[in-house]
Amino acid sequence: MVRFDLRWKLALNFIGLAGAVIVLVALAINYSLDVQFSRYLVSLEEQRSAAVADAVGVVLQETGSWAAAAPDIVRISIMTERWIQIEDLLGNVVADSAADRRGMAMHGRRLPMQPPGDAHIVTLPIFVDGEKVALGRFGSLDLTQGVFSPQDLRFRATINRSIIWAGAAAVVLAALFSLLLSQRIVRPVKSLTRAAQRMAQGHLQQQVAVEGRDELAYLAGSFNEMAAHLNQLENLRRKTSGDIAHELRTPLTTIQGYIEGMRDGVIAADENNWRAVESDVKRLSRLVQDLQELSRAEAPLWDKQAVDLGRIVNDAVSHIRPLAVEKNLHLEIKGSSDPLVVSGRPEALSRICSNLLTNAVKYSPPGAAITVTLQSTDGWALLIVDDEGPGIPEDEIHLIFERFYRVDSSRTRRTGGSGIGLTIAKELVTAHGGTITAANRTGGGANFVVSLPLRT
Ligand code: ADP
Repeated sequence: MVRFDLRWKLALNFIGLAGAVIVLVALAINYSLDVQFSRYLVSLEEQRSAAVADAVGVVLQETGSWAAAAPDIVRISIMTERWIQIEDLLGNVVADSAADRRGMAMHGRRLPMQPPGDAHIVTLPIFVDGEKVALGRFGSLDLTQGVFSPQDLRFRATINRSIIWAGAAAVVLAALFSLLLSQRIVRPVKSLTRAAQRMAQGHLQQQVAVEGRDELAYLAGSFNEMAAHLNQLENLRRKTSGDIAHELRTPLTTIQGYIEGMRDGVIAADENNWRAVESDVKRLSRLVQDLQELSRAEAPLWDKQAVDLGRIVNDAVSHIRPLAVEKNLHLEIKGSSDPLVVSGRPEALSRICSNLLTNAVKYSPPGAAITVTLQSTDGWALLIVDDEGPGIPEDEIHLIFERFYRVDSSRTRRTGGSGIGLTIAKELVTAHGGTITAANRTGGGANFVVSLPLRT
């Protein structure tokens, strides 16, 4: 099977289009020539028949009766090469050149008696002294009438030749133009294809040149964005799997060390050491729990119900308060006390609040303030959590919702975080049709805003 590439497909389409346009133009010109020609013939026929009708009127006036006028009418018929039939006003045929000519001697070339079947017959009144006396029917006996003369045919051939030349030139121009155009289209497509193939082979650092401002440039720009994003995610995946391995390795090594030490009698199997083992096991199971929760948060949310976000937030704040008090933090709820009813799952909404509050408490220095604000605007319920902690580095804000992403591994490992809390929160907010954003407050500290659609 012949395989045409995009360039040839485009070129063939353009050539086909140019060819089709030329054929249509040729047909239209030839058709209008035919129409013009037959209109011209009809008007010529009408002019000539009018002159013959006048002559018949004169003959009748001179001879006095149709019977006497018959030979003259035949003569006029032969001279003008025209069939003439006259009907009186009652509809009787009173003269007919075809009948009256029979038996008369013909001089010169022979003329047929009747006009050919498809001839144009003109009907005109016959006047004598301005008074209508009969109706004449006239038809040309010239068999070449209605046929193109050699001159007409030459004219038509010249026009058709010009059309063929113009057509050939158009096809050549279309071919050149389409090859140039397709070159411009195909080049970026080819470079995109090459880049996509390299990405498929695992080389994610691909960028293509963006030229111009058309759809292809837009496609190239989107491709670059996608490649950069994939590359970033791949780096993140590598970094976070390293983080997880590290996260698992530390407690596992410690547990192993304690168990071996206790078995060999190097470490005392006392209350303190068992508690140390237990704390590492707890850390591991928290990580596993977070991972499980994340996979649950990623599943679609079917069983939604009307939930008062205010109640959920109040419960979450009461729950975290002992920890805040322990750290001497000022935890305060502000804003709407009216019910803010959203559609969702209570445990999921509680989880979102507690993740944000736990972070605020975790990253705030002792004595700092944490403010939780509830608002409603334009069909949305807003939950805002502000703290006075270290905030988030600006260039990492867009990454903190990614799986296992932690701003500063050593800082967060110390605080016990696994970098999944915000990912879970974001998945759950998205499942509720909402959005979550993070920012830094001008006076220092982080600002998290959750927007959830109010139930209508
Ligand atoms: P973690 O369990 O480590 O806290 P999260 O997914 O909850 O994981 O948060 C991801 C990262 O975002 C954290 O490691 C932390 O560096 C940063 N972060 C989250 N909340 C805050 C906050 N309120 N203030 C400063 N940094 C924060």
